[in-house]
Amino acid sequence: MGRLRGKVAIITGAGRGMGQSHARVFVEQGCKVVLTDLNAETGNAIAAELGENAIFVEQDVTRLESWASVVSAAQDRFGGVDILVNNAGILGPLATTQDLSEAEYLTVCAVNQHSVFFGMKAVLPAMLTRGRGSIVNISSIAGMAANYGFPSLAYVASKFAVRGMTKATAMEYGKHNIRVNSVHPGFIQTPMMVEATDEVGGEALAQIPLGRIADPREVSNLVLFLASDESSYITGAEHLVDAGMLAH
Ligand code: NAD
Repeated sequence: MGRLRGKVAIITGAGRGMGQSHARVFVEQGCKVVLTDLNAETGNAIAAELGENAIFVEQDVTRLESWASVVSAAQDRFGGVDILVNNAGILGPLATTQDLSEAEYLTVCAVNQHSVFFGMKAVLPAMLTRGRGSIVNISSIAGMAANYGFPSLAYVASKFAVRGMTKATAMEYGKHNIRVNSVHPGFIQTPMMVEATDEVGGEALAQIPLGRIADPREVSNLVLFLASDESSYITGAEHLVDAGMLAH
């Protein structure tokens, strides 16, 4: 308990799946959390359940202007920003390259990739004021290898980009005590994963060395470590939480 005591975090995509799990774990560890999501109904319900150390702000992460109100909410209610978890994401259509439309490609890149730039750009001034910060960008095993089980050039492109953007910003801001890391989950039991496996069948799951899909908390534990001061000498790095999927 208390591994994030005194810290304020913004977690995007916290209305369900891994984002809501990260928010629960952060509040358990003494953090004050601003949850954001497109879905105000589930986001508000989770924040209410978490109590006075959590608030919900409705946000579309692809809109740069939405970020100013999220940062203001963190500052007005909790006094600043120490942690950003760029978690919101979509899988997009499971289509081959020739079948993927321009609009579909651009949408996936906007949600998974451009939002990470917007989020980092928005919180960095607040972190510089604070003299510290930890940014955790959620990529995927699809940000490390293209053979992760589903055909989607856009998802792979966006998740590889997140890995590179993480390193670029880590290089720039290390001297200011702001750390930036990427997390690369394998198959995690969330609504996104359930919808995807319904569509492609279970064959992708046969590739998991530990032989099971993860509970979201197993990713939250890594995100918690990277957000906390326990990882004080770790930045610009990519962190797999994939049950060994990329070990072959
Ligand atoms: P999910 O679909 O269960 O939840 C994602 C949340 O993001 C939803 O609440 C959704 O409303 C929100 N969201 C989507 N678009 C948004 C937008 N434009 N603005 C604000 N919020 C938006 O997904 P998840 O499985 O919990 O995935 C979380 C992250 O982890 C994503 O970045 C995903 O790509 C990544 N990931 C997931 C898996 C997996 O197996 N589930 C594996 C690797 C990486």
